[in-house]
Amino acid sequence: MTETSTEGTGPEGGALSNLLHETRRFDPPAELAANANVKADVYQRAADDRLGFWADAAEQCLTWERKWDQVLDWSKAPFAKWFVGGKLNAAYNAVDRHVEAGHGDRVAYYWEGEPGDTRTITYADLQKMVSQAANALVELGVRTGDRVAIYMPMIPETVVAMLACARLGAPHTVVFGGFSAAALRDRIQDCDARIVITVDGQYRRGNQAALKPAVDEAVADCPDVRNVLVVRRTGQDVAWTDKDLWWHEVVDRQPTTHTPEAFDAEHPLYVMYTSGTTGKPKGILHTTGGYLTQCAWTHWAVFDLKPEQDIFWTAADIGWVTGHSYIVYGPLINGATSVMYEGTPDTPHQGRWWEIIDKYKVSILYTAPTTIRMFMKWGAEVPARYDLSTLRVLGSVGEPINPEAYIWYRHNIGHDKTPVVDTWWQTETGGHMISPLPGVTAGKPGSAMTAIPGISADVVDDAGKPVGNGQGGYLVLTEPWPGMLRTIWGDDQRYLDTYFSRFPGVYFAGDGAKKDEDGDLWLLGRVDDVMNVAGHRLSTTEIESALVSHPKVAESAVVGATDETTGQAVVAFVILRGSVPAEEAQGAELAAELRNHVAKEISPIAKPRQILMVADLPKTRSGKIMRRLLRDVAENRTMGDVTTLQDSSVMDLISAGLAAGK
Ligand code: ATP
Ligand code: MG
Repeated sequence: MTETSTEGTGPEGGALSNLLHETRRFDPPAELAANANVKADVYQRAADDRLGFWADAAEQCLTWERKWDQVLDWSKAPFAKWFVGGKLNAAYNAVDRHVEAGHGDRVAYYWEGEPGDTRTITYADLQKMVSQAANALVELGVRTGDRVAIYMPMIPETVVAMLACARLGAPHTVVFGGFSAAALRDRIQDCDARIVITVDGQYRRGNQAALKPAVDEAVADCPDVRNVLVVRRTGQDVAWTDKDLWWHEVVDRQPTTHTPEAFDAEHPLYVMYTSGTTGKPKGILHTTGGYLTQCAWTHWAVFDLKPEQDIFWTAADIGWVTGHSYIVYGPLINGATSVMYEGTPDTPHQGRWWEIIDKYKVSILYTAPTTIRMFMKWGAEVPARYDLSTLRVLGSVGEPINPEAYIWYRHNIGHDKTPVVDTWWQTETGGHMISPLPGVTAGKPGSAMTAIPGISADVVDDAGKPVGNGQGGYLVLTEPWPGMLRTIWGDDQRYLDTYFSRFPGVYFAGDGAKKDEDGDLWLLGRVDDVMNVAGHRLSTTEIESALVSHPKVAESAVVGATDETTGQAVVAFVILRGSVPAEEAQGAELAAELRNHVAKEISPIAKPRQILMVADLPKTRSGKIMRRLLRDVAENRTMGDVTTLQDSSVMDLISAGLAAGK
C-alpha cells in the first residue's frame, strides 16, 4: 500500500520531487519464468557487449540477403547507421519467409469488423495480397524511395498496403483515419507523397463514417499526388475524381507473385508523425534493419511471445507507432498470430473487447492506461462476464500507468496471475526501451522498471548529472539504439534541437522520471507539464495516481496554474467512477475529501488548490491527456493548437464548468 510521506524532496534534491511510495510488488509466475524466452542472464550479456547483443538479435530475428559489415556507425553522431552494408527486404521478412518455412497455413490475423463481420488471413493469403498490391503500385508508377500516404481504418488492407510499400522500398506514411483533411494534407505535403491509399468509409460506433471526402479535400491542395487508390469497406456513396481508382479494380487483377528486392539496412521504411501531445507533430523517420531488429526482439522478449501458441492482441490503432511496431512489423517478423479489431470498445456493448478475448482465446493483450481507466469507470462486472483465462501477459503503453489502474488491470483482466509489462517508449524510439521482462523482472505497479537489455537509459538533473536513488529528474538515453529515429523528415536541424541540445551528446526524451530506492525507473510525465509549487517541482503523474487511488475516481489530470502565494498551484480535473451518484459528484464535500486524500497519500504540498469534476478530458487521438490545454483553461488563456485533439467539444464543456465554479 502507499505510505504517507509529509515532505517532498524539494528543489535541492533533484529536478523533480519524489512523492509516491508504492511498495507492492509481484514476482514473475514460476511457470512463465521457467519457460520464458529470455532469462536474467540476458542483461549481463548485453552489458558486456552491447553491439554484439544487437548483432545477435538481428541475426536471430531477421533473414538478411547480405550480412552487415559494421553493427553501428556513430561517426556522424547523433545521426546513426546500424547494420551498415546489410541488405534485406522488410516484407519478405514479415511474410514470405514464413510461407517458405512451411507456415503458410498459420493465421497472421483474425480480423474482427465492428459490425461483427470477420476475416481470417493466413501467412499464405497475406503473401498473395501483398504481392498483388505491390504489383499494382508498380503499375501506378511507384518507385523505390517514393512516399505513399495511407489513410485507412483498422482493416487488413491497411497492413497489406504498408507491406506492399515496404516490399518496394517506398516509405509509407500512415495517417490516422480520424484525422481531419487539413491534418492529412499537411502530412502528405510534408513528406511529398505521390500516391494516397484510402477507403470509402469505416464503421465507427455502429455508423458508417466517410473517409473519402477528407481525402478529396486534402488532395485538392496536393497537385503532386498522382492517384488515390480506394478500398471499398462500407459500400457507401463516394464522390469520384479523375485521380481515383478502386483498389479491387486495380489490385485484384494483378499476379499473386512478386519478387522482392533487398534494400540497404538504412533504407527508409516509413515516416510516422508523433501524437502531437506537446505541439506540432514531428515526422519521425525509421529505417529498415535496425528498426525491424528492435521491434521483433522486443516483441519476442517483452511479451514472451511463442509464435506457435500465443494469440497476440495489440488493441491500438495502426495509425500510431504502437500499431506499426506491435500490430504489423514485430508480430509478422516473429510469425505470430494476431487479433485485429476495427471498432470502438463499447460497440455494440461495453464487453466487446472481453468477448473478443474469449472468442479468439487471446493470450497476450497490449493496450493503453487511458483505456484501462475507461474500463475501470464502466465497472469490473463487465469483464467478469467473459472467460479471460487464456490471458498470460498484459501490456501497457502510452502514458504512465497509475498504480491503481495497474492493480485493477492485473486483478480484473489478468485474474492476479498475469505479469503486467509497462513499456516506456516513443514514436522516436521505434520499439520498447524501458520495461519489465515478464519471466525475469518483479512488477511494481506504476514502474516501467529498467531499460531493456542493450538499451542505456538514465535520469539526470538540470546539469546533466545522474541523480541518485530516490531522486527525480530528466529521462535521457545515453547510447544509440537500433530502432532510433534517424532524423525528423526533411529537418535535420529540428532533430538536433529537439533531442540533442538540452544535454549535449545524449538523447533527451522530454519526460521526467525518478529512480526508486532499488534504482528502478518510474516515469513522471512530460517535463513541460512539471509544476513549481512553493519551490517544489512536482510532476503530474504522482498526484494523478494519488487521485486515481481514491475508490471514487476513475481518471484525473493535474496542471499548474499561476498562484499569488505559491507561484503555481495544483488544479485537478477528475472523472468519477460510474458508481458515484450525481448529487455527490457535484458536492463540495467530495472535492474536499479528494484534496485531503492527496495530502494524506503523498504530501500536503501536492494538495490541489481546486478540484473540478468533469465528464471527459482532452486527449490526443491516441488517448494521451493534453494537459497544456487544461493549463490554458486554468489560466484563462486562449487555447493552443487543438488539431490533434480527439473531441474539441470536451474543452468547451470544461471551460464552461470552470467559469460556473468560480
Ligand atoms: P509529441 O511528441 O508530438 O508531443 P507524443 O510524445 O504524445 O507526441 P508519442 O511518441 O506517441 O507522441 O508518445 C510518446 C510519449 O508517451 C513518451 O514520451 C511518454 O511521455 C509517453 N509514454 C509512452 N509510454 C509510456 C509509459 N509506459 N510510461 C510513461 N509514459 C509513456
Ligand atoms: Mg513526444
